[in-house]
Amino acid sequence: MAKTIRDLMSESRQVVPEWTPDDVRQRVSNGAGYTLIDVREKEEFREGHLPGAVSVPRGFLDMRIEETVPDRDAPIILYCAGGTRSLLAGRTLRELGYTNVVSMSGGFGGWKGAGHPWEADKQFTTDQLNRYSRHFLLPEVGEKGQAKLLDAKVLCIGAGGLGSPTAFYLAAAGVGTIGIVDMDVVDVSNLQRQILHTNDRVGMAKTESARLTLQALNPDVRVIEHRTRVDSSNVMELFRDYDIIVDGCDNFPTRYLVNDACVMLGKTNVHGSIFQFEGQATVFKPGEGPCYRCLFPEPPPPGMAPSCQEAGVLGVLPGLIGCIQALETMKLILGAGTPLIGRLAHVETLGMSVRVLKLRRDPRCPMCGDNPTIKELIDYEEFCGLRNPGAEPSAHVA
Ligand SMILES: [Zn+2]
Repeated sequence: MAKTIRDLMSESRQVVPEWTPDDVRQRVSNGAGYTLIDVREKEEFREGHLPGAVSVPRGFLDMRIEETVPDRDAPIILYCAGGTRSLLAGRTLRELGYTNVVSMSGGFGGWKGAGHPWEADKQFTTDQLNRYSRHFLLPEVGEKGQAKLLDAKVLCIGAGGLGSPTAFYLAAAGVGTIGIVDMDVVDVSNLQRQILHTNDRVGMAKTESARLTLQALNPDVRVIEHRTRVDSSNVMELFRDYDIIVDGCDNFPTRYLVNDACVMLGKTNVHGSIFQFEGQATVFKPGEGPCYRCLFPEPPPPGMAPSCQEAGVLGVLPGLIGCIQALETMKLILGAGTPLIGRLAHVETLGMSVRVLKLRRDPRCPMCGDNPTIKELIDYEEFCGLRNPGAEPSAHVA
């Protein structure tokens, strides 16, 4: 005769002790290192769960338990909505060799009813569940990571060759607030590489064109237009509300200003630059690696460089570098992987070589060194920054 659920429950009780919500609260708050596993379906978990609980729906328990709790003797507390599913799940874990498994009687309902604290994860809409479904499949992103992306505030300096792909991909990935600083209008010569803009928007402010493109791509994204030039009078105010600054500017005065303001404010600067057929990207994180001045303490004097119009840049190239900047920005937001702090990715496209060079903080750096000499922001004289032999490996047409 087939076993009834009642039979299964009583068999399970023999191998899986049950604790009341009060017991669980007390032991968890003693900090004894229990892993709390919520075995309900994802939708139930999303609506509310115990603080610190991990979601492993019962149907996935066999497959996921090993990555969640590799040590089979580690103490585990399981719970569901009412105490039945977790009890049966406990028996499954015992059969898989887990020795220290407890089920919470009364489940999440009993926990809430007893007035214990609980939390709800970000509620995603049906559109968001679809839109970000490929992110949800990655353990490194998941719903928590997507919530971080949606909460993140990233400022892109420039909506040009670098800023276009960066902002485009960040918006696609669901970075919730994207600021764009640019005071130019779209010119037809931009369209060979600045993919945010379109032919029918020639003459339109780049910030506006960027906003139209990004919001058409993803309505989750709030785009803030800063139709201005970054200078020493506005940079601190401009950066203050953003988590990460992505530097896609095309000139030295702005690059030094962005660097110095980021060091002063302790903001991470995701740097990129391009020249003709080569480009580079790195992450300057104050306190954890060098800053731009550790590499190039002072800008080259004006006049050392040819004019902007003389510098060519291959279409697509800014796409490569801007995508590295977008990727690094996402890693920083997610806390995933190893960011390019203290390392510089250099891409040479004609031979197609990608090198990653180590960078070190310079203790004599005038900005972030042990005895910094630069105490205030500097507006360097305006000039177009191009290759300055011996000064920098690659320079800059965004
Ligand atoms: Zn430095």
